[in-house]
Order: sequence, then structure tokens, then C-alpha cells
Amino acid sequence: MNNQIQQTYARTTSSGSVSASKTLLNVKEMTMANTVQTIATPKPAVVFLRGLDARVARTKAAGMFDEDSRFLELDHAQILAHVQGRQDFTRGRDADDVPPLLADVAELASAWVDGWNEAEESVAMAACSGCNDGSGNPCPHHG
Ligand SMILES: [Zn+2]
Repeated sequence: MNNQIQQTYARTTSSGSVSASKTLLNVKEMTMANTVQTIATPKPAVVFLRGLDARVARTKAAGMFDEDSRFLELDHAQILAHVQGRQDFTRGRDADDVPPLLADVAELASAWVDGWNEAEESVAMAACSGCNDGSGNPCPHHG
């Protein structure tokens, strides 16, 4: 028995029903604490599913009969691939590390590359003295 359980056990056995309900509350609180801890330290993302949402959106679009809906969904797929590229840059992945789920679809692969490049440029511009000379304009290299 650990200390906390031992103390709870001692309270419960020595003084009747009031302590018993307190014990129930403690158990509940302990359960809640465990739940919070589980949420605070999620499992790492499953890396081989990178780009899955974009791939799913594109597949969905391919099955749409309404042309406007199809274009919107294709657009959405490209935006998701773009966002994945930004995230992958932020997580330290290389520019040639295109997710396998996007690599074989030209427009999704290029959207991913665009996202990766944009994120890289943002970081470079944030660190560039020419871009941060107070004028509010990017330097000739980044402009
Ligand atoms: Zn610059």
C-alpha cells in the first residue's frame, strides 16, 4: 500500500460514513488526475500517417459529381497538404521528406513542398537583419 491509500484506509476504518464518502471523492479525484495526466502527455503522432487527411480529402473529391463541390474539396486537399508541409518543416523534417501518402500525387506533393518552403522562409525572414530594418519591407533577397 502506498502512503496515500494507507492514510485513506486509516480514515475510513476509524470514523464511519463521513470519511467513507470522502474516500470515494478521493478516488474520483485520483481518477481525474490520471485523466488529466493522460491528456497532457499524448502519444506521439503516428508518423506514417502524415498527409492522410489531405489524401482522404482528395479521394473524397474524386468521387464528387458536383463540379463546384469537387473543386472546393480538391482545394481543401491541397491546403491540408500545404499545412502538413509547414508542420513537417517545424518538426525538423527535410525538404525531400515528402510524406509517402502525398508523394505519388503531383499536386499534393507540390503543395506540401510549398508549405515546407514557406515555413522555412518565415523562419529565415524572422532572423534576417535586412527584413527587420524597421522599414516594414522585406530585404531584396526575401522580397
Ligand atoms: Zn531578408
